[in-house]
Amino acid sequence: MLTNDQLNQWDRENFLHPSTHFGQHGRGESATRIVTTAKGCYIEDRDGTRLLDAFAGLYCVNVGYGRTEIAEAIAKQAHELAYYHSYVGHGTEASITLAHMVAERAPAHMNKVYFGLGGSDANETNVKLVWYIQNVLGRPEKRKIISRWRGYHGSGLITGSMTGLVPFHNKFGLPMSEVVHTEAPYYFRRPDPDMSQEAFSAYCAAKLEELIEREGADTIGAFIAEPLLGTGGIVPPPAGYWEAIQPILKKHEILLITDEVVTGFGRLGTMMGSTHYGITPDIITIAKGLTSAYAPLSGSIVSDDLYKVLEEGTDKFGPFGHGWTYSAHPIGAAAGVANLKLVDELGLVQNARETGAYFRNAMAAALKDHRFVGDVRGDGMLAAVELQRDPGARADFDASEKVTAQVVGEMAKRGVIARAMPQGEIIGFAPPLCLTPQEADTVVSVTRDALDAVTGAM
Ligand code: PMP
Repeated sequence: MLTNDQLNQWDRENFLHPSTHFGQHGRGESATRIVTTAKGCYIEDRDGTRLLDAFAGLYCVNVGYGRTEIAEAIAKQAHELAYYHSYVGHGTEASITLAHMVAERAPAHMNKVYFGLGGSDANETNVKLVWYIQNVLGRPEKRKIISRWRGYHGSGLITGSMTGLVPFHNKFGLPMSEVVHTEAPYYFRRPDPDMSQEAFSAYCAAKLEELIEREGADTIGAFIAEPLLGTGGIVPPPAGYWEAIQPILKKHEILLITDEVVTGFGRLGTMMGSTHYGITPDIITIAKGLTSAYAPLSGSIVSDDLYKVLEEGTDKFGPFGHGWTYSAHPIGAAAGVANLKLVDELGLVQNARETGAYFRNAMAAALKDHRFVGDVRGDGMLAAVELQRDPGARADFDASEKVTAQVVGEMAKRGVIARAMPQGEIIGFAPPLCLTPQEADTVVSVTRDALDAVTGAM
């Protein structure tokens, strides 16, 4: 058995972790938690510490950890057929079944799915779908993609460009010129505190239209957005937002991609987030909740209308020249089939709605009057607490104080994992959809205690 010291040494010497301060890690200034086992909402590390994971990994382990039904489906698939590709004329029972199950759960006008591996590559596929489709429609100059500041769509080249968070651009020479960003529908940060939600939605819509006119509608292929901003701060859309945005896109013949990597398959208390907010997309990105992260798999769900264009394109120009070796990987597909069955059998969409509401209400009741809490928000099984130096004066903490990082650190010491969101002083919560009200109470009381511990002397 390897010792912790040995593993920590190899970790420092050989492992470049994602989104990590390499220097601090390499010099051993920051410790790595080596996770060993997990069950339900709890993970355990090599030191024997058990923590309630109120972020479900990276908001992906929707059904909770340690589900034997999924583990067995993966093992069976690996024994029978660990891999075969899905290029020209090939498929597997698992991938075909999963495509059907996804279509059954997607909005009625969307029935085709193109599988990938993770959210980033699915969004890469989406951009290529848009470019291809606009070409087939005879408007190749309709190429730019509009995304929102604070949106998250991956960390590849075009997907990192679409991500509207500065750390994902800095020193990479991004965003690429094909991507332009518009206003985030971040009501808490509205320009005028007296603005109603509806007025702020109209303001965001006007900003979008201004951008379209400035760039030229004939240069814009698509708009990509999460139904609810996730990594950018867990920000639900203000009332009337999607009602104001969609007609503008229609008017300028701009395709709509909803990135449901976080919201797909139940997290908002409805099967899909698009339906939840009355959005009619042309393409939907799915990943995380598709397999609850038991194996990597993602997808792009395409509307019937767009499919007709794809059919016409391939009839005219030959096969769609895009694919990954691991598109529709059978092990991911087997995990997906078992996962989506479990979501239904365990009633997790309903639990996300009901226990999610209980959790958010309890968090708001415990924290909304705290002198350093500016906002408590969320939807379904997603919540955020935004901290400020002086909420009444709309004054923020200085980033150098690292208040949120400290609170999240104190929470971990008390046995709960939450996430310091990457931009701003925002504590994020996205527990597994199987969270119980008792577990929700634990998360709330630990958050309150940790916040008091950090801010008590301020
Ligand atoms: N889209 C959204 C909305 C996401 O939240 C994420 C990941 N957090 C991605 C895309 C990228 O997915 P991946 O990390 O699997 O590439």
